[in-house]
Amino acid sequence: MAHALSLVDATTPSAEHASGAECRFCAAPLQHTFVDLGMSPLCESYLDAGQLQNMEPFYPLHVWICDRCFLVQLQEYVSGEAIFHEYAYFSSYSDSWLAHARRYVARMISELRLSRTSRVIEIASNDGYLLQYFVEKKIPVLGIEPAANIAKAAVARGVPTLVEFFGQGSARRLAASARADLVIGNNVLAQVPDVNDFVAGMKIVLAPRGVITMEFPHLLRLVAENQFDTIYHEHYSYFSFLAVTRILAAHGLKIYDVEELDTHGGSLRIFACHEEDPLRPVTPRVDALRLREDRAGVADLTYYAEFGERVRESKRKLLEFLIDAKRAGKRIAGYGAPGKGNTLLNYCGIRSDFVDYTVDRSPYKQGKYLPGTHIPIHAPERIRETRPDYVLVLPWNLQEEIVEQLAYIREWGGQFVIPIPTVQVIP
Ligand SMILES: [Zn+2]
Repeated sequence: MAHALSLVDATTPSAEHASGAECRFCAAPLQHTFVDLGMSPLCESYLDAGQLQNMEPFYPLHVWICDRCFLVQLQEYVSGEAIFHEYAYFSSYSDSWLAHARRYVARMISELRLSRTSRVIEIASNDGYLLQYFVEKKIPVLGIEPAANIAKAAVARGVPTLVEFFGQGSARRLAASARADLVIGNNVLAQVPDVNDFVAGMKIVLAPRGVITMEFPHLLRLVAENQFDTIYHEHYSYFSFLAVTRILAAHGLKIYDVEELDTHGGSLRIFACHEEDPLRPVTPRVDALRLREDRAGVADLTYYAEFGERVRESKRKLLEFLIDAKRAGKRIAGYGAPGKGNTLLNYCGIRSDFVDYTVDRSPYKQGKYLPGTHIPIHAPERIRETRPDYVLVLPWNLQEEIVEQLAYIREWGGQFVIPIPTVQVIP
């Protein structure tokens, strides 16, 4: 019996390493680990003081790679409804993100010649931070946002917004009145449990000559720059250009152009149209990126297999730094309370034994506590009042902006600590 078992083990993954789940795109069984970050609470579930005495749900943060379509993914440990019903992320609180949105809108209006007779639909439109710039130019828009508290903020600034999850059902309803000349989906594809239903919906709601643009963090950057803290339960999928091209193609959509952006640690912006649209030839940028991914090895399991150990080593290095700093009597504060910070702090086991508090510009988060680690969140002025020796920058993707805003910590010799890709001190 034991002999028979070992034969099986040599050729197939053992039961304890298989997920028992299927790929959300191609339905192949998931049997290969990309990285296992242990158990973690939902990264946007900030706590009130009164909740600190309660039990807190933790879920596995175990990421798989599909060996058939190479989609990197989490199982749907927590349903979208549970996560996005009241979401704490208000886009409008980041200056650089608003500037990014404004530039994009100006460009799309001119390239697609959008006018008062056009229609722009944004899926996961958040608080209207992007659509507001179309509204300024009198271009009809519709936002779709499942978090009611955030949709309310959008409506208040003049952006009509439907409170719902997008899929084929809502797409058919919207298409019955008018299809969209531009469909925008920024940082939403990763957050969709049923990626096939979502992309099929985009096809339905798109006008015959319409254009889809989507932005999402690029897996190639996540791997190259060790951005494991961008993994959280809200992000079900992590896309290479290869994987997203296959998913769109399966639903009759063609990616005809792609750009690389610096947002969120390195994103792709893809431009897609109906596959039968003859007006939009595929640009050389598409082939160039495909080739680059191919050379990096995105269609080879060994590319994914090495990531886990690099993540564990970067945890050891960060803890080493923090332990030395505390032994030397240093005081450490955090800056920011982003989702990625919560993955990092929970995975590394960093609580107020290392980081006294963190600060955030969003009034929604001030006075609350980080999920899991229970580190208190204050307003940014707290840093000037307490003069910490180190400021641990959790939203490292905004580090230039933050280091500039907090330049005053140098008055008392304060230094910035950037945790990713590997711990680094900026004097
Ligand atoms: Zn798959």
